[in-house]
Amino acid sequence: MVSTLTAEGIGRAVWSGAHWLLDLVLPPRCPGCGEIVGTLHSFCPPCWSALEFLGERGCLTCGIPLEATDSGTCAACLARPPRIARTRAAVAYGDISRKLAIRLKYGRKVAVAKAMARYMAPLVGTTGDALLVPVPLHRRRLAVRGFNQSLLIAHEIGRSRDLNVIPRALRRKRATPPLKGMSFSQRRRTVAGAFVVHKGIDIAGRTVILVDDVLTTGSTANACARALQRAGVARVELICWARVVRPPQFER
Ligand SMILES: [Zn+2]
Ligand SMILES: [Zn+2]
Repeated sequence: MVSTLTAEGIGRAVWSGAHWLLDLVLPPRCPGCGEIVGTLHSFCPPCWSALEFLGERGCLTCGIPLEATDSGTCAACLARPPRIARTRAAVAYGDISRKLAIRLKYGRKVAVAKAMARYMAPLVGTTGDALLVPVPLHRRRLAVRGFNQSLLIAHEIGRSRDLNVIPRALRRKRATPPLKGMSFSQRRRTVAGAFVVHKGIDIAGRTVILVDDVLTTGSTANACARALQRAGVARVELICWARVVRPPQFER
């Protein structure tokens, strides 16, 4: 476990406090390119027009664009309902949305998380007693980066939709190599069994909304959903910032 009471941890807390203050006193900047903009957490016109907002378009279940022959739910979801009952992403994965995901990890992270959440929060369908659970990092990566970017986004969505966040519901018990460049089946094998629900977390019978930054084939989210369902979670949904709109294959 990473102790937050180290000098490094305190330094980080002061630093994020400083960021928060800077957000108050400096003019708002576009989270995509850093240009000064009129409104906090909004995009400049060029970034705005380069982003492809997905909204509620696509399959009611998996969110993938529908074929002309589909109505409401795509043929694949009808044939075999996926493990994740509802998947939504704010934008399609592209230049600007990728830049934001990178800035969230390495740049002015709180401002970026707020900007992402602004467009993700309206897509949360289930409310009531649903719980927000971030896709976890392995403890070694968490120790290096100092924070989990998905948790930052989850906190912002939780704040705006009045939903509880369970930061450590899931644990990545095995470090996995970056999935980038791997085939669908390689991804699936790499993350299979990599996640468990933390001991002592009682989420049986609940609805969990997984929160992630980028969705590619869905292998990671699916492995998380499997762990949640093993712990008795009744329904799993997924909300992410950006998704690859037409992956060669999508895990169901
Ligand atoms: Zn911009
Ligand atoms: Zn579908």
